[in-house]
Amino acid sequence: MGCDMPQKPIVYDAPTPQPRANDAETLRNEILEKLTYAVGKDPIVARRTDWLTATILTIRDRIIDQWMESTRDTWRTSQKRVYYLSLEFLIGRLMRDAVSNLGMMEQVREALGSFNVDLDELIEREPDAALGNGGLGRLAACFLESMSSIKVPAYGYGIRYVHGLFRQEMSDGWQVELPEDWLAHGNPWEFERRESAYEIGFGGSVEPVTQPDGSVRQVWHPAEHLNAVAFDTPVVGWRGARVNTLRLWSAQPIDPLLLDRFNSGDHIGALEESAKAVSITRVLYPADSTPAGQELRLRQEFFFSSASLQDIVRRHLQQYGDLGSLPDKVAIQLNDTHPAISIAEMMRILMDVQGLAWNEAWKLTKGIFSYTNHTLLPEALETWPVALLERLLPRQMQIAYAINAMVLEEAREKGLEDSRIAAISLIDENGGRRLRMGQLAFVGSHSINGVSALHTELMKQTVFADLHKLYPDRINNKTNGVTPRRWLMQCNPALTRLISERIGPDFRDDIEQLIKLDAHAEDKSLQDQFAGVKRGNKERLAALIKERAGISVSPDALFDIQIKRIHEYKRQLLNIMEAVAQYNMIRAHPEKRWVPRVKVFAGKAAPSYWNAKLIIKLINDVAKVINNDPAVRGLLKVVFLPNYNVSLAETIIPAADLSEQISTAGMEASGTGNMKFALNGALTIGTMDGANVEMRERLGPENIVIFGMTADEVDDVRAQNRAPREMIEASPTLREVIEAIGSGVFSPDDRARYRSLMDGLYDHDWFMVARDFDAYCAAQRKVDTLWSDRTVWNAMAIRNTARMAWFSSDRTIREYADDIWGAPHI
Ligand SMILES: *Cc1c(COP(=O)(O)O)cnc(C)c1O
Repeated sequence: MGCDMPQKPIVYDAPTPQPRANDAETLRNEILEKLTYAVGKDPIVARRTDWLTATILTIRDRIIDQWMESTRDTWRTSQKRVYYLSLEFLIGRLMRDAVSNLGMMEQVREALGSFNVDLDELIEREPDAALGNGGLGRLAACFLESMSSIKVPAYGYGIRYVHGLFRQEMSDGWQVELPEDWLAHGNPWEFERRESAYEIGFGGSVEPVTQPDGSVRQVWHPAEHLNAVAFDTPVVGWRGARVNTLRLWSAQPIDPLLLDRFNSGDHIGALEESAKAVSITRVLYPADSTPAGQELRLRQEFFFSSASLQDIVRRHLQQYGDLGSLPDKVAIQLNDTHPAISIAEMMRILMDVQGLAWNEAWKLTKGIFSYTNHTLLPEALETWPVALLERLLPRQMQIAYAINAMVLEEAREKGLEDSRIAAISLIDENGGRRLRMGQLAFVGSHSINGVSALHTELMKQTVFADLHKLYPDRINNKTNGVTPRRWLMQCNPALTRLISERIGPDFRDDIEQLIKLDAHAEDKSLQDQFAGVKRGNKERLAALIKERAGISVSPDALFDIQIKRIHEYKRQLLNIMEAVAQYNMIRAHPEKRWVPRVKVFAGKAAPSYWNAKLIIKLINDVAKVINNDPAVRGLLKVVFLPNYNVSLAETIIPAADLSEQISTAGMEASGTGNMKFALNGALTIGTMDGANVEMRERLGPENIVIFGMTADEVDDVRAQNRAPREMIEASPTLREVIEAIGSGVFSPDDRARYRSLMDGLYDHDWFMVARDFDAYCAAQRKVDTLWSDRTVWNAMAIRNTARMAWFSSDRTIREYADDIWGAPHI
C-alpha cells in the first residue's frame, strides 16, 4: 500500500529547533514575517483573513514544538495509544482554543494591537469547522481536547468533508439549507500528508488462494480503488500539556490508474472515475440520530474505517514489529456504529493481509475495540442491506457471516433459547436481510458503554438485552462531559475572572475546586457580581439578537433558552406551545404581574425531516404574532436565531438564565448542552432523562426544576396504547393552545399549516407533548416564582456552577482510560 516501512529505526535523539519565545515583541515580528513570506501580503493591503492566517501560522509553530515532543514521548516510552474513530468532529473555531490553552491570549492581543488589528475581530473571522451534526460530534471534539489536556496519547480519526453541516438561513420563517464552505480560504491549521496515503477498495470478488504451506488465504480483488490521504490538525491541551493529532481522511483518485485509462483513450471514463472517488469525502450527511441509509454513506464509513485501521496497524508494526502486542498498545474506540465495519475490516487485515488464523485475529480484535452506543431509538439503529454489502464489501460480509455463526454457536452452547438467538443475530431477517451494525460492534468489542447512567440501564433492558445476558461483563457506563476550557474559560471570561477572584485561579487546572464557590452562594456581594457578569453576557446576546433576527429584547427579562438540533423527541414543540399558553394568559389577565421572558430557540433540522422543519416554521410564526401584539407589552418575546453552531452556542450559553432540557424521558441518551448551561450558571428546567438525572443528583434536587413523566411511565403509556384525548379534554389551557395553533391563529396565510401536527397530539402523542404539557406549565410557573426572588435565584445559579465540575470531559476521559482503554493519563 502507499505507505512504505522506514528502512531504519526512528532516531529518538534527533535535533529539534529552538523553542519559540512567546512574548508580544517576538509574536509581533513573527506575525509580520508570516504575513509577508507565507501569506505573501504587504501589511498595507492585508485583509483581516490575511492577518488571521498569519496569526494562526505563528501560533501553529508554537504548537508544533509541543506536538513533536508529544509524539517522541509516546514512541520513547512505548505508551499505549488511543484511537477515537468518529464520522463526526464538531470542532468549531480553533484559534481562541489554541491561544487560550497555550496561555498566550494577552501577548497575541498586544502583538496584533500594535498593527491596529483586533484579536476578537480575527477570532470572529475564523470559519466554524462543522464536521458534525450535534452532540455526538461535539462530544468527539471535547474528548480530543481532554485527551490532550490529561496527557492521553491519542489520535482522532475522521473524514475531511469539503462541505460540513449546511448553513441554515430563514426564508419567511422556513429553514433553507445552503452549502457550507469552511475550506474556501484554505485551512492554515492542517498538514496534508501525501506520504500517508492508503489504498481503499470497493466491490469485486474474493478468491481463495492456497499458500505454499498448504493453508488457504482469502484474497479480495476490489473492482474500484481510490486513495485515502491524511490531513493532520494538532489538538492542544490545557497549558499545552500534550498535543495530539486529529487525522482526517480525504478521498483522491489513484493517479496511475487514471493515467492508464486516459492513455488508452478513455478520457471521459477516467474523469468520471476521478470525480466518483473524490465524491466520497465531499459532504457530511446532515442526519442526526437517523441513519442516512445511502450507499455513499456506507462508502464513507468503510473508507475512513479502512484507512484508519491500515494506519494503526502500520504504525504498530513500525514500532513493535509484531501483532500479538496489539491489545497492549492499541485501543480503538468506536463512536457509535458508524465505524462498526472496522470489526470486519480489522479481521480481514489481520487474516488476509497479515496471515493470522481466525482465533488469534478474533482475540486481538476484541482486545482492541470498544464501542459507545448513543441511541436506543429503534429507527436510529444502523443496519445495511446484506445485498448491498455483498456487492460493495464482499470480503467484509463473508467475515460478518462467520462472526455471526461463531456467536450463535456460542449462544447455543450457553443454552440460549432459539427465540433469543434470533434477537442476537447480526442479521435482521425481517423484511429483507440486513446487517445490524450495533450487534457487530457489540460482539467485536470488549467494552460497550452508554453515555449516562439511565441510558446504560435502558441499553441493558432494550437493544442489547440478549447480548447483555450472553456477555454480562461488557456493558458499562461513561457519563458524558464537556471541556471546561471551551465551555467556561473561553466562552465566559468574565465569569472565569469572577470565580478566580473568589476562590483563586487554581480551579483552571483542577476543575474539582469549583466546589469552593458553593460556600459563597449566599454571599450577597458575590450574588451581585455573578448577576452582573450574566447581565453583561445578556447584553451581548441582546445585541446579537437585534443584529441577526431584528428583534429588540430587554436584558432585564428572564432569558429562557433551547438550542439544539430540532427533533420531535427534544420537544421544541412543547416549549413553543407553552409560549402560546403564556401569550393567552398575559392577554386574559393583563392585571397580573408577569415575569418578562425572552424565549430563544436555535437549531437545524435535517433537510428531509418534515415535522422538524415545520416546528421551525411554527416557532417563527408564533414569534411574529407574539412579538408584534401590543397587548403583550413586551412581556414575552420569542426569537429564532438561525444557523446554530458551536460559535453561536459559545455566545448564547453564557447569557442563559434558564436552560431547556425537556426531551421525552428515555429518549435523550445523555445530552451535553444541559451541562454547558449549568456550568455557566443557568438553571435547568428538564425531564428525568439522560444526564439530567445525574445533574439532579449532583446539583441537589432543590437546584434544578424537574417535571414530567419518567422513562418507565412513558414505556407503560406506549405499551397500553392509551389515547391522549381525555388528557387534552381535561386541560383547558392545552385545549386552547392546540385549537389556536391548529385553526391557524398563527398562520393566517395558511390556516391548515399546523392541523396535522396538532392532530398528531390527539392521535398518538408519541413524544408525550400533550401528556407532559400541564406538568411543564406548572414547572415554568415555579421558575417564575424563583426568578421573582433574585436572591434565591442567584444562589441557585452560583450553586449550579459550583457543583458541575464532575461533568468535565476530563473526568469522563479518565474513566475511559482506566476502565476501557488501559491508557496512561494524568
Ligand atoms: C453541545 C452542542 C450540541 C449538543 O446539544 P444537546 O442539547 O445535548 O443536544 C449540539 N450542537 C452544538 C453546536 C453544541 O455545541
